[in-house]
Amino acid sequence: MLSYEVVEHGKPLQAKLRETPVPQGTEVLVRITRSGVCHSDLHLQEGFFDLGGGRRANLSDRGIAPPFTVGHEPYGVVAALGPQARGVKVGDRRLVYPWIGCGKCAVCAAGDDHYCLSPRTIGVARPGAYATHVLVPDARYLVDADGIDESWAATLACSGLTAWSAIAKLPALAPRDWVAVLGCGGLGMAAIAMLRARGVSNVVACDVDEAKLARAREQGAAAVVDSRAPDALARLQAVAGNAVAGALDFVGMPATAQLGIGALAKGGHYVLCGLFGGEIALPLPPIAQRAIAVRGSYVGNLRELREVVELARSGRLAPSPVQLRPAAQVNECLDDLREGRVIGRLVLDFEHADPDRPG
Ligand SMILES: [Zn+2]
Ligand SMILES: [Zn+2]
Repeated sequence: MLSYEVVEHGKPLQAKLRETPVPQGTEVLVRITRSGVCHSDLHLQEGFFDLGGGRRANLSDRGIAPPFTVGHEPYGVVAALGPQARGVKVGDRRLVYPWIGCGKCAVCAAGDDHYCLSPRTIGVARPGAYATHVLVPDARYLVDADGIDESWAATLACSGLTAWSAIAKLPALAPRDWVAVLGCGGLGMAAIAMLRARGVSNVVACDVDEAKLARAREQGAAAVVDSRAPDALARLQAVAGNAVAGALDFVGMPATAQLGIGALAKGGHYVLCGLFGGEIALPLPPIAQRAIAVRGSYVGNLRELREVVELARSGRLAPSPVQLRPAAQVNECLDDLREGRVIGRLVLDFEHADPDRPG
């Protein structure tokens, strides 16, 4: 099999030929056809998350050390089954839920694999989908997404799921309420489409890039705010008539957090998903006085992924913009993402990658 691996932090990925794994027990081997490129792959490549104030959370402290293969938006074809694998057959095309837990603890039993303290996440703790083949621990993590475009389907495993789960953490919305979407990359674009599919029309998109704001309007945002403007907060509140009930932050930098938290109406929720990094000072009394919620959201569970896929298959969800590129262009893709040059989501084509030839 062919995989593109982080061999040294901060350096380009390298093509490697590895022994194709043989599934054991309940394992399923998936021949990858599509693999989405996520912003968090950049952090895995670089080896740390920025905590602000010069502090870093290093992956090495979490036991993650090169060489490893990233990629947690896998879509492909079942290629082989372990002797105890049930529920799929060779040739089935499936989306892979990557946020897999230990499968044994109470958290996993409750269906919240993504909160498990002994994760087996594909593309983080286990070899990921920047590869022609991925080994999945159990067929229960395979989702039938037949009927929608495979490239778009792949992006649902992280980008789509993260947006969906963040929206689920918003308060109940009244007709006059607004939701601010901070950051109009792949996640923001997915969130706008999902809010519209759920009947929320008061969506205001915020970004620093005019092309992304224009695309957000096409995606269904009723208003846009250029967050570079010195009076961005006042503009956002004016657009929303001071009724920002929810702010979804898909960037996660000090400027977006300040904008999102600052814009909230009383009782509003700020939901942080983005991992750009940094820190902010948060005066405490206004959190109580304004009765706001400041909370995080990290990917989502298997049930939520099935919900997103069903919504997509129903035809009620506008597809997010997706660009398909040859797998061999993985490093160019990561560079484009790092430099903010991507509209929507990048997906790698592994269907046409030769598993026996590097490059
Ligand atoms: Zn991701
Ligand atoms: Zn667990």
